[in-house]
Amino acid sequence: MRSDLKKMMDYCTYCPKMCRFSCPTAEATSSETYTPWGKMEIARWVADKTVSLSEAMVVAAYQCTNCLHCQQYCEHGNDVPSALAELRRTAVENYAAPAPVYTLEERFVAANNPYGLDLFERARPFWPEYGAKKKPEILFVPSCHTLHYFPERLAAYFELFEKLGVEGVTSVETPIQCCGAPLDDLGFRQEFQEVAEVQYYSLKDYRLVVTDGPECCNAFKNKYEALEFPLQKKSLHLMEFLAPYLRHSNYRSSGKIKVRLAYHDPSFLGRHLGLDELPRQLLEEMTGFAPLELSWAGKDTLSSGMEGSYDLVFPEFAEKIALRTVEEVASRGIGKLLTADAKSEATFRRLAGGRFEVQDFYDFLNEHILPTAESEAKP
Ligand code: SF4
Ligand code: SF4
Repeated sequence: MRSDLKKMMDYCTYCPKMCRFSCPTAEATSSETYTPWGKMEIARWVADKTVSLSEAMVVAAYQCTNCLHCQQYCEHGNDVPSALAELRRTAVENYAAPAPVYTLEERFVAANNPYGLDLFERARPFWPEYGAKKKPEILFVPSCHTLHYFPERLAAYFELFEKLGVEGVTSVETPIQCCGAPLDDLGFRQEFQEVAEVQYYSLKDYRLVVTDGPECCNAFKNKYEALEFPLQKKSLHLMEFLAPYLRHSNYRSSGKIKVRLAYHDPSFLGRHLGLDELPRQLLEEMTGFAPLELSWAGKDTLSSGMEGSYDLVFPEFAEKIALRTVEEVASRGIGKLLTADAKSEATFRRLAGGRFEVQDFYDFLNEHILPTAESEAKP
């Protein structure tokens, strides 16, 4: 066991559960065992071999969405998901993980992504025709969740690039249809390493690698780097890639927004990647108004339950977590919820059941930015 993880576990042992209230899975399960403190205690017992690897111990390791909310309230800055990842790897190595974990592995074996389907086939009708003047040196990698839930969005992204005068971007069918983060999330260390290696060699020659997936971007920037597949310097999330174009393009917006609008921060964007202020600034610069704030927002955002592949293992609890955001939006009479993560968006839409609109952040930008010709034609 890494000494830094052992130290974190020791901090938790003597802590009066300062972060308890921030943990979405402890809240959803109403279980003290699944507080960050409880999970860290279990991880320590297993690491110290005080207890053997029972089913109950293993289940606790998977009761985490990797949202990192607890870190906001931890004086020591503990990284609970990293400590639990060790226990998940031990569970996988000992064939002791919960059954859905192995379903994910089977899907990856079948189709190189967590859905077990050929996602490129679904997206092909929307694949952009590359017509830029310059040789493409920027690769756009859509997240597997976008390809699965909203394959048509690929066309919308490239339409937005065109409106903003973004050149030199292309999208290609990479050998693997996912960054591999779901494998790492669930404890398949070796398999993740293999995916990262293949992806690295297919991405490394581009000047920039841009993705819309918060978890994909975290994988490219941080997880690949840790495996010595250095993509950190050339990886950008779509939001940070688009920001200078949005700020310096002479685009016109289609007019006033007539709906009460809120933004939900995907936790990997707001916390892991630190992109919490930027979406607010971009929305305000475009619409003239800051979006409404949810009670948990920015660096303090509430997990959607969809991160870290938690929904694959505990779908009912994941839905319960997502419902907290959905019910708040509905009860406050907010007309539109924007977010920037396809799986969260799909879940919020389903649970909202038409009580309010849920829209992707970039889809919203594309809808409100006029095409170049139309924009130039205006006085
Ligand atoms: S993560 Fe930090 S705040 Fe939470 S129980 Fe452990 S030491 Fe306490
Ligand atoms: S990372 Fe999120 S889900 Fe995991 S223990 Fe911390 S607050 Fe709970």
